[in-house]
Amino acid sequence: MDDEIETVLWTQDQIAVRVDQLAKEIAHDFKPPACPPVIVGVATGAFLFLGDIVRKINLPILVDLVRVESYGFGTESSGSPVISSKLKIDVAGKHVMLVEDIVDTGRTLSCLIKYLESEGASSVSVCTFLDKPTRRKVHFELLGDGKFYRGFECPDYFVVGYGMDFAEKYRNLPYVGVLKPGLYQEASLPKN
Ligand code: 5GP
Ligand code: MG
Ligand code: MG
Repeated sequence: MDDEIETVLWTQDQIAVRVDQLAKEIAHDFKPPACPPVIVGVATGAFLFLGDIVRKINLPILVDLVRVESYGFGTESSGSPVISSKLKIDVAGKHVMLVEDIVDTGRTLSCLIKYLESEGASSVSVCTFLDKPTRRKVHFELLGDGKFYRGFECPDYFVVGYGMDFAEKYRNLPYVGVLKPGLYQEASLPKN
C-alpha cells in the first residue's frame, strides 16, 4: 500500500505525539469535579483515533459508537448524512464528546449534534483528528458548554490512512497521506 501514497502528511510518530497532547488537554478539562464525558466515536473512520485517545484519557469515561453514512464510495459528500446506527448508551443529562476522523463540510457533525440534542445530552464537545475549515458548508454549534478539539488542520486534499478510507481501503495505514492521483480515478465509483 505504501507505494500507492503520493505524500505523507503526518507520520505515525507525529500522530502519537499529537494524540498524547489532545488526551492531556481533555483529561485536564474534564477532571473532577467535572463529569467525565460519554465518548462517542463516529464509525468507521474514527476507530483508530478513538482507540488511541481513550487509552490515554485517565478518567472514568463511557464509550459508544454511532455510524453515519454520507460518502458512499466517492470522495465527495452526498450532502445528506443518515445515522444508520444509533447510540446504545442513554446520554440524557450527560456530557458527550464526539470523536471524529475529519470534519469537512460540517454536515455530519451538524446532523450528529442535532441527534444528541434530541437525545437530551446536556453538552456536546467535539474531538476531531483532522479539520478542513476551508471546506465548511454548514455551520454547527456545540451544545451547552461543549468544546472543540482538533489534532491537525488539514489542507484541502482527500486523505487516507489512520482509519480513513478510499472505497474502504487504506484504513489500516498507520500514517495519513494522499493517494497518487491516478488511483482516485481508477474505479468508476458510485456516488450516493
Ligand atoms: P463532512 O460531513 O464534514 O463533509 O464529512 C465528514 C466525513 O467525511 C468524515 O468524517 C470522513 O469520514 C469523510 N471525509 C471527509 N474528508 C475526507 C478525506 O479527506 N478523506 C477521507 N478518507 N474521508 C473524508
Ligand atoms: Mg467520519
Ligand atoms: Mg469514508
